[in-house]
Amino acid sequence: MSHAVKNETASHQLRATPLDPVLAAGRAGKIKVATIGFCGCWGCTLSFLDLDERLLPLFEKITLLRSSYTDIKRIPERCAVGFIEGGVANEENIETLEHFRDNCDVLISVGACAVWGGVPAMRNVVELKDCLEVAYSSSVTSPVGARRVIPFHPDIPRLTNKVYPCHEVVKMDYFIPGCPPSGDAIFKVFDDLLNGRPFNLPSTINRYE
Ligand code: SF4
Repeated sequence: MSHAVKNETASHQLRATPLDPVLAAGRAGKIKVATIGFCGCWGCTLSFLDLDERLLPLFEKITLLRSSYTDIKRIPERCAVGFIEGGVANEENIETLEHFRDNCDVLISVGACAVWGGVPAMRNVVELKDCLEVAYSSSVTSPVGARRVIPFHPDIPRLTNKVYPCHEVVKMDYFIPGCPPSGDAIFKVFDDLLNGRPFNLPSTINRYE
């Protein structure tokens, strides 16, 4: 849970600057998409860029709102689709995922971390305190003589005891497997979306590693 001081407004809670009217008119009618990365490596987010030359015609039809590509940090209006990368590993991830669920018609888990926890879920095999102990208190990579502390601050989101796949936190509508999924798989999802078809990923373009 993000730390909020009473009577203090966080920057993401400030009113959005009104959009330039020409820009707003250009976006009207486009399919609104939001993306977020939780506990992952951003590889799935980068896979989106593997659409390469298919991106330009795609952006004739969709507009990205909240996204690391746009650096917009809130969902300013309802979105048709939310793409989620990464597993749920802290309380801020839970809060954000619930916000996406409330504001997106369709939510899609993109990649192994979002679908089943992926690499970050390797920490699930031990207790959280043991994981933190290895990472910080007894880390072999700590500089000699450094004071070994487990970072704590009210502004640092608290880790959950386990890393969870997104669908264990909120209802997810679709899943794109892979680490990361191919650009072709992501494109197929957009193509189905733009043409009003139910998402249907053929196994030939899915990755299961
Ligand atoms: S599924 Fe793979 S590529 Fe995607 S965020 Fe997780 S580790 Fe990175």
